[in-house]
Amino acid sequence: MTARRIRPSPASAKPGDTIDLPHLPGLALLWCLMDIDIVSVFPEYFDVLKLSLLGKAQDNGLVRISAHNLRDWTHDVHHSVDDTPVGGGAGMVMKPEVWGECLDELLGMEPGPGTDGSGGGTAVSSASKATDAGDLVLIFPNPSAALFTQRDAAELSHAKRLVFGCGRYEGYDARIPEYYRAQGVDVREYSIGDYVLNGGEVAVSVMLEAITRLLPGFMGNPESIVEESYTGGNALLEYHQYTKPALWRTLAVPDILLGGDHGKVDRFRRDEALERTSAIRPDLIEALDCQQLDKADRKTLMALGWEVSQAHPRLVGQPRRPSATD
Ligand code: SAM
Repeated sequence: MTARRIRPSPASAKPGDTIDLPHLPGLALLWCLMDIDIVSVFPEYFDVLKLSLLGKAQDNGLVRISAHNLRDWTHDVHHSVDDTPVGGGAGMVMKPEVWGECLDELLGMEPGPGTDGSGGGTAVSSASKATDAGDLVLIFPNPSAALFTQRDAAELSHAKRLVFGCGRYEGYDARIPEYYRAQGVDVREYSIGDYVLNGGEVAVSVMLEAITRLLPGFMGNPESIVEESYTGGNALLEYHQYTKPALWRTLAVPDILLGGDHGKVDRFRRDEALERTSAIRPDLIEALDCQQLDKADRKTLMALGWEVSQAHPRLVGQPRRPSATD
């Protein structure tokens, strides 16, 4: 297992800020903005996090990631982490005792009652003392939890430390998150979509990437995370993006993007974002604050069948069927 240490972050840094990262290994300690632990029965899975921008962020000391093998906290010869479901049913469920020992250690808590097998005792928790509220978040991916969104990613990018627990089999014993919540730990359970994966590893990778790219200094150009899909108060889907050549296999880039008139380009993109969002994610249009819409936004939305005189837009025309190819 890797030694764990929570590193200080620059007091003034906020997601969206630009930081010129020093490339001196000694200074890296001072600049670590986020400390991440992942617990899984397949810790090798997270080798991919050494690639690309996340790999660079670790090299620069901006993020520290440690993947731990849950089986390191087992005591039996088979290193078993699962058992049959109480009440019957198919499959296996992850045992609370193993997770308990693992998380007590990672979170710097006193071992909980019954850890020695006695099954009782007084709960002595130092979780609330070991971590300031908001600094540490314990996250379990779970298909039957609330959906993880860009808003959650933005909120979690302010945490100093994240600990992820990857479920497998039929999932983990429900008392694991319940116990740590009762000890004052900020515990979250998130689904990454309405489908079931074999384990939490993919879900953790998804959440990690969404969260860490919002850290100050993570992106080479911090502007690139400002105007993105789902981002900001009045979030929309992004407009279509194009690069050169202007003509490719008979398909031309829209003329307006080539004209050099930035005002017209902005309006064209904004209208395209409204059109795409209306067709694909009308729920995002319904959530818009009409007060924040300018005259041209209102005109475009009205042409798309939305009524914009109330607090939020309301569809009055025939809704366009969402399509994967829009
Ligand atoms: N029996 C569970 C159910 O029906 O809801 C599914 C368990 S799944 C096979 C095993 C583990 O994969 C879960 O505990 C969770 O950690 C992870 N997982 C699977 N699908 C997920 C999703 N859509 N979002 C987040 N985590 C997921």
